[in-house]
Amino acid sequence: MTRVFNFSPGPATLPEPVLRQAAAEMLDWNGSGMSVMEMSHRGKEFMGIHAEAEDLLAELMGIPSGYQILFMQGGAIGENAIVPMNLIGATGRADYVLTGDWSKKSAKEAKTYGTVNVAATGEASKFTAIPKQSEWKLDPGASYVHICSNETIGGVQFHWTPDTGKVPLVADMSSDILSRPLDVSKYGLIYAGAQKNIGPSGLTIVVVRKDLLGHALPVTPSAFNYQIQGEADSMYNTPPTYAIYIAGLVLKHVKALGGMPAMAEHNARKAKILYDFLDGSSFFRSPISKEDRSLMNVTFWLKDDKLDDPFVKGALQHGISGIKGHRSVGGMRASIYNAMSVEGVHALVKYMQDFERQHG
Ligand code: PMP
Repeated sequence: MTRVFNFSPGPATLPEPVLRQAAAEMLDWNGSGMSVMEMSHRGKEFMGIHAEAEDLLAELMGIPSGYQILFMQGGAIGENAIVPMNLIGATGRADYVLTGDWSKKSAKEAKTYGTVNVAATGEASKFTAIPKQSEWKLDPGASYVHICSNETIGGVQFHWTPDTGKVPLVADMSSDILSRPLDVSKYGLIYAGAQKNIGPSGLTIVVVRKDLLGHALPVTPSAFNYQIQGEADSMYNTPPTYAIYIAGLVLKHVKALGGMPAMAEHNARKAKILYDFLDGSSFFRSPISKEDRSLMNVTFWLKDDKLDDPFVKGALQHGISGIKGHRSVGGMRASIYNAMSVEGVHALVKYMQDFERQHG
């Protein structure tokens, strides 16, 4: 068996011990005589798996009381509609900060459900920098302010928490959830697709302050109504049971490694190796402003884009996969989520050095 170093932006690499455990438990979970995939979601075994995953998430993220954890479906793109359907009804208006493709998509979708004000945009810098809070034009009557904490495609990340006063801060954390310590109390709502740092796609995590509920628009489908899902402990409809089980294994693994402080250190170390190399190279370069560089998705460009294809093909021959940049921006992107090893990053840098020597 050969496993590659998988730098894919998501679905992404998962911890090998988790995959091994899942494989060992595939036919018979814990003496139940069945796979987790085959269990009733309302049975004792799965209810235990579900509760454990929820408890681990609360512990690792430090989720205070007064917040509801929801295991939903529909992904972060689904949440682009589900968030406004549930929250924008408070005042009918919401602020959106645009920092790249994902937040632009969020703002566009929200327009169906209320008035969207673009409070700030990184457009002028071609989304290579996060607009400073001093430039934001916030509406004090907004139902919430939406940000994307880490732009997976462009490669910019918030390294500070915006101050939105009394207006709740909503964050799409799909690609940096659980990558570093977080003060959840500064957020009204956090959502994330699971398929980067948590587990398989199909599961969407939502953490919402309970006092924000109760404003769902009448069009909100019951399965996407946070209040209804909360009252049913995310079991209003059949949840993505297998994805929740794998998420639970990943969370247990992350806890054993030392939780958020350990993840932050591990992720900063990997990102530094890559960015230091890029900064010292005259062949590769990072397009992102230094203080806003993502520690999760390192975007970079080759000196000559005619070399992009040979670079990607050669990488595969060296056991390095998933480094082609998103089709909308081109270039390269190395996604280095929690489960990517330091060894993987060293292998990538070594390949880049060799490629530069051959083609530089
Ligand atoms: N937001 C961000 C920040 C993402 O990285 C992604 C997926 N790459 C999405 C939203 C969309 O997620 P999904 O396809 O699971 O809906």
